[in-house]
Amino acid sequence: MPRPSSLACVRCGAHYPLDHYDRACAVCAEQHIAANLTVCYDAVPGRDLTRSAVSARPRSLWRWDGFLPAAATDAVTLGEGDTPLLAVPGLGLGDLWIKDESRNPTWSFKDRLASSAVTMARVVGAKLIASSSSGNAGASAAAYAAKAGLPCIVFTFKGAAGPLLTQMRAYGAMVLVVENKDDRWRLQSAGVKQLGWYSTSPFFGPVIGSNPFGMEGYKTIAYEIAEAFDWDPPEWFVLPVCYGDALYGAWKGFEELKALGWIKRVPRLVAAEISGSIAAAMRSGEAMPPEIQRNAPSIATSIGANQGTVQTLQALRGSGGTAVAVTDDELARWVVTLGTREGIWVEPSSAAPLAAIERLRATGTIAPKDRVVALVTAAGLKDASVIESAVPPSPAVKGGLSEVIKALHEVYGFSHD
Ligand SMILES: [Zn+2]
Repeated sequence: MPRPSSLACVRCGAHYPLDHYDRACAVCAEQHIAANLTVCYDAVPGRDLTRSAVSARPRSLWRWDGFLPAAATDAVTLGEGDTPLLAVPGLGLGDLWIKDESRNPTWSFKDRLASSAVTMARVVGAKLIASSSSGNAGASAAAYAAKAGLPCIVFTFKGAAGPLLTQMRAYGAMVLVVENKDDRWRLQSAGVKQLGWYSTSPFFGPVIGSNPFGMEGYKTIAYEIAEAFDWDPPEWFVLPVCYGDALYGAWKGFEELKALGWIKRVPRLVAAEISGSIAAAMRSGEAMPPEIQRNAPSIATSIGANQGTVQTLQALRGSGGTAVAVTDDELARWVVTLGTREGIWVEPSSAAPLAAIERLRATGTIAPKDRVVALVTAAGLKDASVIESAVPPSPAVKGGLSEVIKALHEVYGFSHD
């Protein structure tokens, strides 16, 4: 089984030892470019496997351990991965499929990252997991740390609230509140350097992306999609993008399958974003995505960063893909549409791919015959605000059936006729 041998810069390819997993590329930094590192192996990942052998293994992310940094026998797992791929032909977006990552153990795609990162933390003997995420990444780190028997610190900031913080506390994380967001990174950085904390989240700026060992877990999204399409993957794969961890991981996964000859072609990747940072860099050709300030926060808090990452650009350029900036109005409309017409309730950021696909179909960038997979990343209960404001309040009824019929008609426009 291939084992991690070094880390390499996602942009320039410079190699580093494995314990540099929490640093940016030093060579790129000299050019003021912040680039993440990615895991290299001592042999071709997957070379000991066959498509039929891996498909026959029990359903789990870890059936792909021939491509991953640790063996399934060492895995910290809660049953992540193997999420449903649903055909969604009825939304007017052509041949559309939804990969529903809200079905993971903590109801978000971050479980793929946390399972792989916390597994490696345990392999190297880490004593504590640290995360500066008040969102899905923090909740997922907390759950997998609990499963691993490791303490977990999550830094959050004054004013942060909601189901995600409750979720972290439910998994026993030590949730610490700081005065402002910048303090989170300062304190986590000090803990990493002085106390040997194991970081699963970004903790310095400009952000490069997450822990490289964690990002290996995202490769399995590509493997599952390729397998589900009988090794003839779709023409396009569209993801909500903040720092592009899942997008980069999926690209790497598809590239590995192509190198093995398991698939002939890598899908074109699309980053559905809020800030427009990646789209701007794709237009200008620059190496470092610009910071783009917004006047107001987006409803898509999971992807609300003002600056994209180099790893996202590498994957988009490498796959012939593109980036689309979407608006809050589009997100809200697609959250409601997905829930009420398809039975899939997602948090606002997860609706970003639908909005991007709508635009790319309209302009002809995505051809009518092209098959498209949209990744929805997290469940609607994580952030119910869109539905609370978009769906009418439930009417109170007392009395007889005639009042029920009246309420159904007046509030919901429903009639038995
Ligand atoms: Zn570099």
